[in-house]
Amino acid sequence: MVHDERDITIIGGGPTGLFGLFYAGMRKASARIVDALPDPGGQLTALYPEKFIFDVGGFPKVLAKDLVHALHAQATQFGATFHGSQRVIALEERAGGFDLVTETDRFPTRSIIIAAGIGAFAPRRLPQPCAAPWEGKGISYAVGDPAQYSGKHVVIIGGGDSAFDWADQLTARAAGLTLVHRSDRFRAHGATVAAVEAAQQAGKVAMHTFHELHDIHAGDAGLLHEVELRDTKTKTTRRVRADVILPMLGYVSDLGTLATWGLQVANDEISVNQEMHTGRAGIWAAGDITTYPGKLKLIATGFAEACTAVNQAVHWIYPDRKVNPGHSSNLAIFGQKDD
Ligand SMILES: Cc1cc2nc3c(=O)[nH]c(=O)nc-3n(C[C@H](O)[C@H](O)[C@H](O)COP(=O)(O)OP(=O)(O)OC[C@H]3O[C@@H](n4cnc5c(N)ncnc54)[C@H](O)[C@@H]3O)c2cc1C
Repeated sequence: MVHDERDITIIGGGPTGLFGLFYAGMRKASARIVDALPDPGGQLTALYPEKFIFDVGGFPKVLAKDLVHALHAQATQFGATFHGSQRVIALEERAGGFDLVTETDRFPTRSIIIAAGIGAFAPRRLPQPCAAPWEGKGISYAVGDPAQYSGKHVVIIGGGDSAFDWADQLTARAAGLTLVHRSDRFRAHGATVAAVEAAQQAGKVAMHTFHELHDIHAGDAGLLHEVELRDTKTKTTRRVRADVILPMLGYVSDLGTLATWGLQVANDEISVNQEMHTGRAGIWAAGDITTYPGKLKLIATGFAEACTAVNQAVHWIYPDRKVNPGHSSNLAIFGQKDD
């Protein structure tokens, strides 16, 4: 499908891209986001939707998924669009602009802002061949709404922050919770590990270190019923009741073809100047994907960088529009004093 041309197309709908989309609308530029993931939010949606964030201005404490919801509402108020499940795989330059190409679609655009974070990312899959047939039928790589695990036997595989955060959160809801890790060294926050170990001592969590997935067994109805775990030291196996398996083995991210677009890319980061410009005409970048002296990879800095990149792009496309956006509290677009 070939879409209409927009002034600005933002690659990536994490917090940086979403705030950039809002800013483009405020500057009366037509804009869109294309993102490889189905839903907006970037790392906040994919990696830690249920975690609280404490260092975003104006929110003493906000759940990541709630911040994404608010960002999305703010971003789309002027009619700009989010196109999910659209991984950008090629850039084609033409007179007056570019075409961004995904596996299925083509997005003509006059300028581009790359807010691609750590690249298009996907959960690391369980390596055991027995796992693949159960994907979506009991094995889930995205946790989603915790309420769906009420009364279920949940097996979490992994030893990092996500594994322990979810073990801690789901213990109270699940009928049984088992944590499986191939060693006894955990890459998780000490306080969360302590909380899960306390739940283990209270008999609410079963923890199997030096174990890995060996096989999966169906019950009478053909549904997932048990996992067979293999002790990597004794080489023996044991069966554990399971309705759901949540592998939390981290993510693999891939910058893909972005690295071949003639930009200055090193260590999966794009060098930008203080205007967030990449050095290639018509292309700016913002958020986690950028680097410059003093760079901080935070949501707050991504917001500011998106604001800079969009205002520069707007002025480049429409030289009569100043870089400085003025104060939103004075803008007619919000029904305030005429600007
Ligand atoms: C567990 C955890 C906790 C955190 N806690 C905090 C915190 O408390 N405070 C804080 O400030 N920061 C925190 N961070 C960091 C914060 O999440 C990042 O700084 C922020 O997400 C960066 O936003 P972004 O929009 O630049 O990139 P991302 O959130 O990474 O979004 C980039 C988007 O680009 C898309 N994309 C990439 N390549 C392509 C492509 N080729 N085609 C289409 N789409 C593409 C991706 O799918 C993704 O949706 C935390 C991070 C983690 C992992």
